[in-house]
Amino acid sequence: MPRDYTVEARRRVGPAQKRIGSLIELLSVEHPDAKIALRFDSDVELLIAVMLSAQTTDVNVNRVTERLFRKYHCPEDYLAVPIEDLEQDVYETGFYHQKARSIRGSMRMLVDEFGGRVPRTIQELVRLPGVARKTANVVAAELGEAQGIVVDTHVRRLAQRLGLTREQDPVKIERDLIKLVPREQWRLFPHLLIWHGRHVCAARRPACERCVVSDLCPASRV
Ligand code: SF4
Repeated sequence: MPRDYTVEARRRVGPAQKRIGSLIELLSVEHPDAKIALRFDSDVELLIAVMLSAQTTDVNVNRVTERLFRKYHCPEDYLAVPIEDLEQDVYETGFYHQKARSIRGSMRMLVDEFGGRVPRTIQELVRLPGVARKTANVVAAELGEAQGIVVDTHVRRLAQRLGLTREQDPVKIERDLIKLVPREQWRLFPHLLIWHGRHVCAARRPACERCVVSDLCPASRV
């Protein structure tokens, strides 16, 4: 029977429950600046920046919102202009028809149902037009009310490589991570994986030889 190197590697590093504390500690030291890369100065700006970040880069969103947030200051401002103006203002983030419509719908609901404020719970956030669970998770976490763990493409890849999940589906991956990661780390944890994914554990060429968690990683090539 052929050797199963995956099983051997998982056995070598031990169970995820025993490694998670050290993983978080080592990654925190390695990436002390790990935090959300989007720029915003208010809860409403946070919500809009996260909505605009779908299918584009944070750098691109920051470029667009620098102008956008100078023009629009509160939910009512987004409702006061023709939709075509808003589309033009978010055009460079891509999917601008959809994004402008979602922003308008969300701002309308904030005004009508939430007193102009961004709600804190995932259940309320996902009621806003165009706000899916991932967006809601990011917003809630940044508002200091993390109720889940954000799973984007980096978090998915690293959680799998680090042997923290065997799942493919983001919802199931989140479920596995929630069981492993202490609640007080739910906000920080995805940023650590995103940072590590961008700077060390790239999708095509992970730099295992300079990775601080290679001893704890079943996918290490070292
Ligand atoms: S050891 Fe390699 S595969 Fe594992 S987390 Fe580090 S860079 Fe990624």
